[in-house]
Amino acid sequence: MNNRETILRYLSAAGVDRFVPRAALIDMDGTLYDSMPNHATAWHTLATENGIPSTREEFFLYEGATGAYTLCRLFNRAFGRDATPEEISRLYKRKTELFAMQPAVGLMPGAKKLLDFFKAAGTKRIVVTGSGQDTVISRLTTDFAGLIEATDIITARDVKKGKPDPEPYIMGMKRAGAVPSESIVIENAPLGVTAGHRSGAFTVGVTTGPVPRVELEKAGADIVYDSMEECAEMMPGLFREMAVTTRS
Ligand code: MG
Repeated sequence: MNNRETILRYLSAAGVDRFVPRAALIDMDGTLYDSMPNHATAWHTLATENGIPSTREEFFLYEGATGAYTLCRLFNRAFGRDATPEEISRLYKRKTELFAMQPAVGLMPGAKKLLDFFKAAGTKRIVVTGSGQDTVISRLTTDFAGLIEATDIITARDVKKGKPDPEPYIMGMKRAGAVPSESIVIENAPLGVTAGHRSGAFTVGVTTGPVPRVELEKAGADIVYDSMEECAEMMPGLFREMAVTTRS
């Protein structure tokens, strides 16, 4: 499917005549930062410490969800019940410690180029993350200086329901003063893609880890790129097509 067909399919599903990309709502882990291997290692270690069998790979699939969601998922599988609020708070704190012990995470190649393009295009940038990991969140405004403002970051602490609920992305739109047909979501994880899709935004999936592109398509991505570099490379062409494609 070419850009024009992709945009027309979105417009038709959304019931709008055109898409104007005024706001880019961008996920953080596995999208702006190559942080998912560290998260997977921290989760896998935490599960093992608590006698819960798991694989390192499965945590790439839960990515984007809150810590509570992931913990309840593990608890239900291993113990047939949700984790209690006390367990969630204690174990998530431990997961944060385990994450902080990992080597420093690097910027995802292509991420800065993509944000530079959004800025040049006059598209507002909002980071929408399910993370509460201050070691990474606090780096955003320095690593992406001039591209991301401190007031334009939505974290796990700001939302009641994390991804795959659309709430974080709806909050991001409000922060940007944009409606769904003016909002483009950039996401690497199936749950995050689902959240973006359900928010009504034009949702771009980017495969940056072991999750295959078909999972992002099934989760509702309007278009999928194979890396953030490819995403940055292709975005100007997508924007040009959005400017001229109308349904009427
Ligand atoms: Mg992510």
